[in-house]
Amino acid sequence: MRIVDVRETSVALKSPLRNAVLDFGQMTTSVVAVLTDVVRGGKPVAGFAFNSTGRYACGGRMRARFIPRLLAAPPETLLDGAGTNFDPAKALAAMLRNEKPGGHGDRSIAIGTIEVALWDAVAKIEGVPLHRALAARWNSARSATRVPVYAGGGWYRPGHDARALQEELRRYLDAGYVRVKIKVGGAPLREDIARVEAALEVVGAPEHLAVDANCALSREDAFAYADALAPYRLRWFEEPGDPGDYALMRELAERYAPPLATGENLLSTQDVENVLLYGGLRRDRDVVQVDPPLSYGIVQFARTLAMMRRHGWSASSVTPHGGNRMSLHVAAGFELGGCEAYPGVFAAFGGFGDDVRVEDGALTVPDLPGIGFEAQNDLYAIVRELAAAA
Ligand code: MG
Repeated sequence: MRIVDVRETSVALKSPLRNAVLDFGQMTTSVVAVLTDVVRGGKPVAGFAFNSTGRYACGGRMRARFIPRLLAAPPETLLDGAGTNFDPAKALAAMLRNEKPGGHGDRSIAIGTIEVALWDAVAKIEGVPLHRALAARWNSARSATRVPVYAGGGWYRPGHDARALQEELRRYLDAGYVRVKIKVGGAPLREDIARVEAALEVVGAPEHLAVDANCALSREDAFAYADALAPYRLRWFEEPGDPGDYALMRELAERYAPPLATGENLLSTQDVENVLLYGGLRRDRDVVQVDPPLSYGIVQFARTLAMMRRHGWSASSVTPHGGNRMSLHVAAGFELGGCEAYPGVFAAFGGFGDDVRVEDGALTVPDLPGIGFEAQNDLYAIVRELAAAA
């Protein structure tokens, strides 16, 4: 058995949304297909993934380095001990050959997306949903049947005022969400606080509302926001400043009692360890949001979790960034604290598919083999075309 080909295409997200630092009108994502010669249901198994939302497509690096290394590896060196399936840890090692340590942003997203696509194939070859394949390997076969979810929304849009924000949040609650997150840091502080108050009127309880500054704030502004937000005791205050500014995070953790959240822009296990050791994060409340396709994939995510446990953290402190079926399976298979959703945005790349329901603030966990993008019609059309291309 072998990997026959790995293909990538760049697709535009076509979104009018904006957070505090970027607008998604130009944003792209890499969609990857890993084609194998393993036949299931009369067809060769193909695995699919995309590089989440918020990092641009990176096909150039995939084609120049990581895909050729994977295809050049002797096929038997990429298999598990029994020789009956691929071993993503070995694929990760093959892609990292001849790479200098550090500089994670140069490769973690390209490698992570290919690795997650390989996991889709691995689970399809086993004939199980990905969360079960992950639970079998890393979680004593315990997989969550429901995953707590929050709707990531409250974007800045042209002409979108507090009333429109409330209408947006009401749509999430009507759809079955209980917890939501809104953007801050992209408007003057007073306006953002008015948005928080408008949102609280809709969601009711402060533990149902989180805010995300998308790393936009200067040190002074981060403190000003922290002081203004603290009395509301929100679910969490996410990424106030630069994701690598651990000193700022530590000062915020000393000054701001409610939970902080960070991690979607930490691309390696070492970066996460650094924020735990030097960023002052508190095990009893703070939230880590590592996104597997952005950070070398699921094998490395498991290593990050193992590192966190060594420092006394539990899997329930992790709520991956992403809002897609990849993060849903990871959250279920490792029994994480929850996952994110982007209802109705990011076109083919938002949402979970018709087989996943939102009920009382939790997602049902899918049964289709693999990740199951086959249940997302628009996304499946893209990956099917990629797999079929000559
Ligand atoms: Mg965020």
